[in-house]
Amino acid sequence: MSDSPSSVIQSWFAAAERPAIAAAIEAVHLEIAEAIREVGPICLASGNCCRFEAHGHRLYASGLEVARCVAICASEGRGITVEDVAFAVEQGNCPWQDGRLCTARAGRPTGCRVYFCDPRAGEVVPQLAERAHQRIKSIHDQHGIKYVYGEWRMMLRDVLGESPVSTNS
Ligand code: SF4
Repeated sequence: MSDSPSSVIQSWFAAAERPAIAAAIEAVHLEIAEAIREVGPICLASGNCCRFEAHGHRLYASGLEVARCVAICASEGRGITVEDVAFAVEQGNCPWQDGRLCTARAGRPTGCRVYFCDPRAGEVVPQLAERAHQRIKSIHDQHGIKYVYGEWRMMLRDVLGESPVSTNS
């Protein structure tokens, strides 16, 4: 019998709290930061990378990354609700975008960390995104965590709909 959606989502939250998994994800983030530093793209904090519809950008994340971001932001007092996600979909952006800034810096997934609109990063972004994607997938596989990968806000909507953590800010 397959796992229920609720138990899968709860397993993502539980996994995100395990020190070994948290450390493995942080290692991927560090690797991305070092690779980005070598390329040196400029970020003018335009916020365009988080206005998905207007800029033709799609953000994807795994279940573990989504649960991790929801939990970290909730613990920092920036929890969101399903209604916040629906509003962000209407606005064409991310529920954690505040003006031009990201308010989910610690929790944001690899897809946010590898993306730069600076043309100098044009070649490296897809390579880095693919490498980061494979690293995150292997964390799911190595730790027996069900792998689901999807569009950011749709994943947030599904995870928050079943969320066992408090998301009140
Ligand atoms: S988590 Fe932050 S960087 Fe990622 S899309 Fe949302 S606002 Fe943008």
